[in-house]
Amino acid sequence: MRKKIVAGNWKMNLTLAQGEQLINDILQAGLKLGEGQEVVVATPFPYLTKAKSLLKNYPGFFVAAQNCASEKSGAYTGEVSAEMLQSINVDYVILGHSERREYFQESNAILAKKVDQALAFGIKPIFCCGEPLNIREAGTQNAFVAKQLEESIFHLSAEEFKKIVIAYEPIWAIGTGLTASSAQAQDMHAFIRSQVAAKYGNEIALHTTILYGGSAKPGNAAELFACPDVDGGLIGGASLVAADFVSIIQKLG
Ligand code: 13P
Repeated sequence: MRKKIVAGNWKMNLTLAQGEQLINDILQAGLKLGEGQEVVVATPFPYLTKAKSLLKNYPGFFVAAQNCASEKSGAYTGEVSAEMLQSINVDYVILGHSERREYFQESNAILAKKVDQALAFGIKPIFCCGEPLNIREAGTQNAFVAKQLEESIFHLSAEEFKKIVIAYEPIWAIGTGLTASSAQAQDMHAFIRSQVAAKYGNEIALHTTILYGGSAKPGNAAELFACPDVDGGLIGGASLVAADFVSIIQKLG
């Protein structure tokens, strides 16, 4: 059995008061998480401590940062280190999101360093991969994603790799309302799992959680989550609306 996760990536949205309200509204729904199911909220840095304290009595609910520094500490104005995140008990960190890659020039090599920092301080990476539209149209998405995995997470030891959650987020589906079909998601997730198996063996591959992200919403989550290699979702826009986020979590079954 591998973990099933629904993670909400708030991106750069909401004030502290709005974020608090959102978490309280989610908790109000009284969700009963099944065995091995987790809910993660990835808030902006300044709200992580608050989010953690709101969720502390709710087993299965965790917090994630949306980024961390590639260096351990020092003169890096404006950066937030993995050690700082550990010191406030952050559970996960989203790394390699396509928005970080595109707007902040995060290369596969930088992301490998961020992954190492997170793991060194006990924070589990949610490592994002996924191709842009022109790559999908050229039909070379598998090679594109394989390179992202190869250059950012396949240097890890097996023990380290077991802490990684992978999120497949086709860039053309993010915030566009254009979701990958369940067949496209399943194909890529199966491919990613096969790459993990080739590198780390079947046992580890079977236990690797692979999330889908990109315009996931209440209306399509059930079909996506029903795919055998889709182990939950990384949700952007719909994670900002409590009723939608709760409904997506319920689709984990
Ligand atoms: P949307 O769900 O808004 O498409 O965003 C997906 C995403 O980028 C989650 O990280």
